[in-house]
Formats: sequence, structure tokens, C-alpha cells
Amino acid sequence: MVDEKDVQNAVVELLRRTVVRLPKDVESAIRKAYASETDEVPKMQLKAIVDNIELAKKTNTPMCQDTGVTIFYVSLPRECRADVEKGIVEGVRRATKEVPLRPNAVHPITRKNPGDNVGDKMPYINWKVWDKDHIEITVMTKGAGSENMSQLAMLTPSAGLKGIKEFALSTVLRAGSNPCPPTIIGMGIGGSADISMKLAKEALLRPLDVRNKDPEVAKLETELLEAMNMLGIGPMGLGGKTTMLGLNIEYAYCHTASLPVAINVQCWAGRRGTVRIHKDGKLEFPTHEG
Ligand code: SF4
Repeated sequence: MVDEKDVQNAVVELLRRTVVRLPKDVESAIRKAYASETDEVPKMQLKAIVDNIELAKKTNTPMCQDTGVTIFYVSLPRECRADVEKGIVEGVRRATKEVPLRPNAVHPITRKNPGDNVGDKMPYINWKVWDKDHIEITVMTKGAGSENMSQLAMLTPSAGLKGIKEFALSTVLRAGSNPCPPTIIGMGIGGSADISMKLAKEALLRPLDVRNKDPEVAKLETELLEAMNMLGIGPMGLGGKTTMLGLNIEYAYCHTASLPVAINVQCWAGRRGTVRIHKDGKLEFPTHEG
């Protein structure tokens, strides 16, 4: 039977792999951008990122000094009796020391830093119960440089598709070099103010090469990605063809009188990882094998 200690060990290893190695889809988008960039300055920037990725793997150290805050998405079997929450919290504490992770989590008003990335509602955990018999834990380690560029707009329905596109493009334009481009955009459309923000972050969990199953939304993903790459911001804001590595949209039905649109900005270090904890304690890392 899986217990809290198993969860703790799984989370330490998950965090180690997540901050050291990018998921395959993100790394391959960066390498593709590097291969296709022709101008010297943006190519140099992309080379620095590729070298950084290689060095992190070789030395087993985090790819960026900002190891972010930890946002978890957990799916639990109905019969799970393990204290998964405690396992995750203690796992984050241990990973902060053992990996190590930079202690980023502070009290929002006093700015007091407990030094272990743990505080009220941090790590932040999103829960779901499912019918499978293993526990699945996904983590996103989100740096501040890109998160700070995220935006919400409560558009009027009459703004329509044009309004959505204008808001998305102006958000990326305003962000400029701040989120360490090339970036990844997660968009949440519909629901309510809070739901669209949640969807925008969840959109970042989908691999960059998988389009939304709704053809209209998939078309918007492709159009916006192409348009954003024409802005000329480029790697680290120094110009070039690649401003954006990917763009995913999730949506929810909304009130007939509203049109919430949220954007979550993710830097090139699109760190997300998943661990499966099987009933016999066996661990599987589908995003970070080996
Ligand atoms: S925005 Fe991303 S790449 Fe830039 S410093 Fe923050 S975590 Fe690192």
C-alpha cells in the first residue's frame, strides 16, 4: 500500500527531474527554433539556451536559478488512504534542500521567507478523484519573470474573436523581453474570471504539439501563434523569428453577458513533470523517463 513517505520520495525525484530537464516537446520546440533561426543575434541567444539545457543535464543542476513556486495537479484513486497532501508538502521541503530549489515562497505582505518553499496554500495543490488505481502527480515550477506578465481581461461579448486576438497580442507585446522569450502562452477563454485564469494555467500542461480538440479553438491557437511570431520580439527580446514556442487554449462555456479571457505566460523554461505512483509503490515518470 502506498503511504505518505512513498509520495514524499516520488515528489522529491519528480522535482529534481523537472527543474533539471525540460519535457521533450518543449526541448524539441527550442531546438527547432535554434535550427530555423537565421539572424546572428537571435541564433546566439537560442544557442545559449540550448547550451544551458545541455549543461543542466550534464551537471544534474537546475536549468534556471529561479526554480519557481510549485503548483501541483493531483489525481487520486477513490480508495487512496495515503496522506498525499502531507507527502507533497514534505517532498517540497526536502527537494528545496536536496535538489536544491531556490527558496522563493514568501508571505505576500510581510515578505517573510520560511526558506523551504512551504507556506499557506503553497505548494498549491489542485485535486481530482479518478477511477484509475494509481496516483498521478503533475508539477509545474513557475518562475516569476513570466508569471508576472500574465493578464486577465473581462471583455464584453461584442468584442468577440477580434477582441480576444487584440488582447492576446497586446499582452505579448507589453511583456516584451520580461518573460525570457521565446515564451509559451496558455490561454483560458470563458467560464468566469477565476475559471479562465485556472484554464490558462492548465493550458500550459498540454504538450505544445497537441492542438485543442475543438477545430475552431485549434485554428485560433495556430493563428495566434503565427501572429505572435511576427511581432519580432525574438529570443530574450533581441529580435528574430521566434517569440513564441507554443500556444495552447482551454475554454469553458460562459455567461451570455461575459467574455473572460486569461493569459498565463511561461518562459522558455517550461518546466512541468508527471509521476505515477502505482499500487505496489513503483514509480513511473512519463514526462521524464530515464
Ligand atoms: S522567467 Fe523563466 S527563464 Fe527567466 S529567470 Fe524566470 S524562470 Fe528563469
